[in-house]
Amino acid sequence: MTKFVFVTGGVVSSLGKGIASASLAAILESRGLKVTLIKLDPYLNVDPGTMSPFQHGEVFVTNDGAETDLDLGHYERFIETRMKKANNFTTGQIYKSVLEKERRGDYLGKTVQVIPHVTNEIQDFIKRGADFGTPDAVDVAIVEIGGTVGDIESLPFLEAVRQLSLRLGPNQAAFVHLTYVPWIAAAGELKTKPTQHTVQKLREIGIQPDALLCRADRNIPDDEREKISLFTNVAQWGVISMPDVDTIYKVPRVLHEQGLDGLICDKLRLNTPPANLKRWDDLVFETEHPKGEVTIAMVGKYVELSDSYKSLNEALRHAGMKSHVHVNISYIDSETLSPDNVAQLAKFDAILVPGGFGVRGVEGKICAARFARENKIPYLGICLGMQVATIEFARHVAGLKDANSTEFVPDCPHPVIALITEWKDADGSIKTRTEDSDLGGTMRLGAQSSDVVKGTLAHKIYGNVVTERHRHRFEANVNYLDALRQAGLVISALTQREHLTEIVELPQAVHPWFMGVQFHPEFKSTPWAGHPLFNAFVRAALDHQVKTTPEKALA
Ligand code: GLN
Repeated sequence: MTKFVFVTGGVVSSLGKGIASASLAAILESRGLKVTLIKLDPYLNVDPGTMSPFQHGEVFVTNDGAETDLDLGHYERFIETRMKKANNFTTGQIYKSVLEKERRGDYLGKTVQVIPHVTNEIQDFIKRGADFGTPDAVDVAIVEIGGTVGDIESLPFLEAVRQLSLRLGPNQAAFVHLTYVPWIAAAGELKTKPTQHTVQKLREIGIQPDALLCRADRNIPDDEREKISLFTNVAQWGVISMPDVDTIYKVPRVLHEQGLDGLICDKLRLNTPPANLKRWDDLVFETEHPKGEVTIAMVGKYVELSDSYKSLNEALRHAGMKSHVHVNISYIDSETLSPDNVAQLAKFDAILVPGGFGVRGVEGKICAARFARENKIPYLGICLGMQVATIEFARHVAGLKDANSTEFVPDCPHPVIALITEWKDADGSIKTRTEDSDLGGTMRLGAQSSDVVKGTLAHKIYGNVVTERHRHRFEANVNYLDALRQAGLVISALTQREHLTEIVELPQAVHPWFMGVQFHPEFKSTPWAGHPLFNAFVRAALDHQVKTTPEKALA
């Protein structure tokens, strides 16, 4: 029978509830348990797919094509279980489902209310995420409740998990509350009052936490832990100090050393072998002992908020560890790049153009792709980064002067990138765009496989087949592929089903490492193996460094 750990947050957001939940899951996994993580988001959007990266950070895409919260990325990087659509749901989805049932008459004429209809729906969704009662059921599902205790919008979620723990019976669920213990510099003191209050709020709704994870910029001394324990009714060994750490890989060790997993296993009556965190210790060692460094220019639009490229940053770091180097990422706002100043990119070991939407900053990205191509600097274009590399090649090599994507110029003379509906006509004529009204749900999403052409750089990296996740609307226009090929662009992978362009590259005789991929490889990178494409890209950056600045290169 699946047991549950509910993780709530107090005082303020952004304390790292996702990392704490993922870390606990990782420790439990190391004790031999089958674990999954579920994220509940209290906002009304059906999913984060339509939210601006500035507001919400990255949208993480699962194998089954769900657009989810970026915490699911942490989950996949911390544990072995892969996330599915069911591992993340929002208030929007709950209400949508309840209202559909109401319209179908499923409630048999009853008045539909938050309690019990919405709260029951939440419990069903949680059980679904854990595959509860099915052969795929996990031993422990860790359920992270977004938002902060005391918010109106997270109340139904808290009520639902309280009810669920009651219904499951004793020792089937544990509650972990993440709280903030501020250091007041003027007084020279750590203050426990906000923690007292947030736990009071939780207990008011009937939830008594079993453990408190106390976030602070330092360790919480024993006398303060004792005080917190007395005021919150949490045993002192459940008051766990979670100080700032320089790498997230340290968090599992910090929590384990203070007995969090022991406490949870006790509470849930789980008898397991002890935790083994060697792989985490090795990661920390690797991050702290690089043998060199490379610096990659990331030319994007959402550069002010590094959360917008969370998985990408992580994937580059993972690849760095594989090559024993530290990867520095220099974010460059593509809106500021032009032919006049693009030469500033010469100092980097490699150039990366990540995914993105909308016309703003696109010409700067095209400039960056051109500079990388002409100066033989390793280039990786991801999704939009692949599209701009294709546009650039069409304009400056294939002689298609005003080549563009119909995303930016709907009636451009050479739409080398366009919606399938704009290029699928049998006679090759270009249809005009039919504007999609339902923005969430018109994308190519999730994992798809393609065949890789032998003898290409892509083949060296991936072998015969590549299976990666997608999140985009526009595609390389099939009507231009011949012209691009004749001008020297290599189309190195096409999807198995629809023969859509997946990877473009320059021949290795022309450029040491230039590649654009229509998918998002960053979603599949883990700290353990890295990812073959990023591993190869970082090695290419190192090779470039050896060639251009040998004094910096590895000893
Ligand atoms: N805007 C482009 C498209 O929709 C690229 C999307 C992306 O980079 N994720 O096709």
